[in-house]
Amino acid sequence: MKIAIVGGGLSGASALKSLLNHPNLKKEDTIDIYEPRDILGVGLPYGPDDESLMLNVSPDYLSVDDNDPLDFSKWLKEKYKEPFNDEGLVSRPKFGYYLAERFEPYFSHRQVTHIKASVQDIDVLDAETKEKTHYKQSGQHVYRLKTSEETIEGTYDAVFLAVGHPEYADYYHLKGTEGYISNPYPANKKLVNIGNDERIGVIGSGATGIDLMRFFTRNYDLKHPLTFYVQDQGFYFADIPYERERLRFSFSKEWITREKEKGSGLIPLENILSTFTKDIQAFGVDVSKIYNRYKAGNLTAIKKAVDSKDQELALIQAYTSKLIPYLPSLYNSLSGQDKQTYLTKYYSKLLFFKSRVPYETSVWLLDLIKQGKVQIKYGLKEIQSSEDGGFILQASESDRVGRLINAAGFEMRLEKNGKGSTLIYNLFRKNIIMPHQNGRFVLIDWPHAHVLNQNYGAMQSLFFFGLLVGGTQHGNNDAPLTYQLASRSAKWFMDQRK
Ligand SMILES: Cc1cc2nc3c(=O)[nH]c(=O)nc-3n(C[C@H](O)[C@H](O)[C@H](O)COP(=O)(O)OP(=O)(O)OC[C@H]3O[C@@H](n4cnc5c(N)ncnc54)[C@H](O)[C@@H]3O)c2cc1C
Repeated sequence: MKIAIVGGGLSGASALKSLLNHPNLKKEDTIDIYEPRDILGVGLPYGPDDESLMLNVSPDYLSVDDNDPLDFSKWLKEKYKEPFNDEGLVSRPKFGYYLAERFEPYFSHRQVTHIKASVQDIDVLDAETKEKTHYKQSGQHVYRLKTSEETIEGTYDAVFLAVGHPEYADYYHLKGTEGYISNPYPANKKLVNIGNDERIGVIGSGATGIDLMRFFTRNYDLKHPLTFYVQDQGFYFADIPYERERLRFSFSKEWITREKEKGSGLIPLENILSTFTKDIQAFGVDVSKIYNRYKAGNLTAIKKAVDSKDQELALIQAYTSKLIPYLPSLYNSLSGQDKQTYLTKYYSKLLFFKSRVPYETSVWLLDLIKQGKVQIKYGLKEIQSSEDGGFILQASESDRVGRLINAAGFEMRLEKNGKGSTLIYNLFRKNIIMPHQNGRFVLIDWPHAHVLNQNYGAMQSLFFFGLLVGGTQHGNNDAPLTYQLASRSAKWFMDQRK
């Protein structure tokens, strides 16, 4: 059997490891990894870059050794005298070195070949006739991969699409404009040769915004405040350390299986909500009350929570962290109606508790704002490039900056995505991938991540992983969930072999 993995980041590496470790792998099987980067197993987020770029989770959750959940933490201790920085965090490049080391034996396995190229197109062929087909046939499919219009690299029995993050969204149509940095990574290449006296603006203030705050504060001595332009929401809320030991947490794999059995494959949203609130109430905390206390999410609210180290908030945040691994299964157990109710009424509240800036980082950020080194401007409506260079931004007031960095989040709309990725463009054009929600995300089935479409149905040997399947793998923008899905799907695929 010939297998292709497209993309050699965390998803691709996890799928590879799972395939190679499977007892059904045969000696004559071959696996080709298509990846334009030299360094394998790390992708964009964990590639070699500035040491100021930090992981947002504890290393205790980032092991890629299924037999040792603390493997990364132990590796860090062995390799570095002091792996943690003054925010108590570990850098993303360090995680990258760990991943590269742990996955290296798999990439150099004798049945594996690294093809250093980007895949640009895939044809679906009928397995028996090896002719192109545009619909489901009784037999199986095979796939022809092309790295350019002319170059056909090979034909495969199965393909794992692990292409990672889409491009950053270009909401203000500035891509290509001088002085505009549409994607700030790698920071140690894209954010160099900037003068300390330049006025720098950042669009957005999510996780990438925090990276930029760290990067500029540690590497530059800017004369003007680093200014974050946002529509209405400033930085994510502070993560308050939970100082008590206890947490009642009822969700588990078994809980989900039991509830699904009771509900013919579905779990009513009401059950999930009441389990969540009862667990929190067991400690005398009312979720709505705490949400209302801080929902403004502004700097005053953040400062209040940071100063008081509010333990009621900390309890809900700690609980939400424990909930993340179960989110995809819970979400996919909801009825269609409940999914809609959840997305419209509860999702933004969950995000409020789930998306957080680490505590020490929040303290630092508040201090930088107090010192006037960082500022936030709300009400961003329009950005135009100015004829004499730089950019004019219409926010609460009109502003001018010389350099503008995009941190506005990823483009999830497939139609727009094609502009940055020929492969996505071609797969979408041929109806091989279809959008999931309002033109966004790639439709897959759950829990195996088969590509789903109208022409071929659930494609049993074509898989899709990564941020673009977040419409199904709900809340999947973290490393542990990325690792889990790719590993599980590859294992499932090998389990099917006789
Ligand atoms: C900036 C950033 C910071 C993050 N920080 C954290 C964090 O601190 N903690 C956390 O848990 N999660 C974090 N994440 C989440 C992260 O998405 C996942 O942890 C994980 O890296 C995703 O892995 P992936 O393999 O799907 O994508 P990637 O790691 O991006 O890998 C995709 C690979 O596919 C290759 N590729 C793309 N197109 C093609 C093609 N056509 N042909 C061949 N190869 C192709 C790319 O070159 C790339 O190497 C972060 C994400 C980003 C973007």
